[in-house]
Amino acid sequence: MMYTIEKANMVAEQLRRFTSGYAHHVVGQFANVDFWLNEVKETQRIIDQYNTRFKDMSDAQKDWIKNHGTKVFDFCPLCGGKCDLSDGKPSPPTRISSSEMKETRRELVDSAYYFLTRCYRMELLNNEELKQKCDSIGTSIDPNDLK
Ligand SMILES: [Zn+2]
Repeated sequence: MMYTIEKANMVAEQLRRFTSGYAHHVVGQFANVDFWLNEVKETQRIIDQYNTRFKDMSDAQKDWIKNHGTKVFDFCPLCGGKCDLSDGKPSPPTRISSSEMKETRRELVDSAYYFLTRCYRMELLNNEELKQKCDSIGTSIDPNDLK
């Protein structure tokens, strides 16, 4: 599992658990709402900088392989060791697709949004506070979710 996806799923899962819990549990988690929103914002930043980090990592690896003539041979059962047909070129790292990244980011924001709207319905947040917190994670409010 990739660090960025795993981190986002962990925060989202946590928020989903809060949202579906008993009222007294929600109140308890609401006491730390700013901490959790900061976790969401930090994770958004981690997601948004993924492509830059991946490129740096990939470039560094490519340079090293080029400068050192690195060869990697997996065990080949037919040749009984190093494969005679392999050129030994190390395979490049796998990038997480931007669609998977986008979906993960959306689920993260949604889970925070549903937690906030539940807090609103429990009157832990007023209109103004809800709007400000939703703005801070870059999401708008659907009036249907407030009923
Ligand atoms: Zn072979």
